[in-house]
Amino acid sequence: ARRKFVVGNWKMHGLHDQLPEIGAIAKAAADAPGIDTALCVPFTLIERAATVAGHMPIGAQDVHAAQKGAHTGCISAAMVREAGARLTLVGHSERRADQHETSHDAWAKAVAAHEAGLDVILCVGETEAEHDAGRAERVVQAQIEKSVPDLAQAGWFTLAYEPRWAIGTGRTPQPEDIAAMHAIARAKLRRMIGEQADAIRILYGGSVTGANAGDILSMDDVDGALVGGASLTADKFVPIIEAAS
Ligand code: 13P
Repeated sequence: ARRKFVVGNWKMHGLHDQLPEIGAIAKAAADAPGIDTALCVPFTLIERAATVAGHMPIGAQDVHAAQKGAHTGCISAAMVREAGARLTLVGHSERRADQHETSHDAWAKAVAAHEAGLDVILCVGETEAEHDAGRAERVVQAQIEKSVPDLAQAGWFTLAYEPRWAIGTGRTPQPEDIAAMHAIARAKLRRMIGEQADAIRILYGGSVTGANAGDILSMDDVDGALVGGASLTADKFVPIIEAAS
C-alpha cells in the first residue's frame, strides 16, 4: 500500500519570522509517523527551514534543468541539495503560466533533480478553458507523456494532479472526479513504465483545506495532497496532516 504524502508549497511566501510555523508543522509531522510530510519553501528559507524541521524533509519549488552554467538568477538542483533540500517540485502550473515552462522543461528538471539526489514531485493539470472544453483527460495524459522520465520510480518520484482552476480559488472537483483523474493518470503511467506505476504516489492539489482533506484523501488512488494557502500556518496545515493520518 502507498503511504499518504502531504506536502506544503509556500510559493512566494515566507521570511525568517515564519520559521516557528515550520517548527510547529514539523512537530505535527513527527506526531504522524504513519504518513510522509514535507514542506517546499522559497530558496532563501531552505537552509534555515531544514534546521528547524527535524526529520521532516524540506523541499525547493523549482530547480534549473542544467547542473551549472551561465544562467543568471537561476538555482541548480545541487545548490538546493547543498542548502538542505531533499526534494523539489517541478512543472508547477504557476511556472508553466508565469515562466512559460513546458512539459519538456519539467522533464529535464525532474531528471536534473534526480541526478542531484533530490526526490521529485512533478505537477500536471489542465487549465479552466481545457476543463470546460472537456479536454482535461487528454491534456493531463499528454503532460504525463512528455514530462515523466522513463526512469521514474516510487522511491524518488511523485506525481501531483493540480487542476489549475482549483488552485487558490476555493473551488475543488468532486472527490469522485479527482479519483477518476488519478486513475487515468495511473493508467497512463502504467503504459509508460509498467507495474512500477502502481507504487508511485499521486497527490491532489488545489484548494485543499482541513475541511475537505478527509473526503479527498479517502478516495482510492489519491495518495496525498499538495497544499498551497492552507500550508502557510500550522493552524491550517496540521488538520490536513491529521486528516491524512
Ligand atoms: P492552493 O492550495 O492555495 O489552492 O494551492 C495549490 C497549489 O498550487 C499547491 O502547489
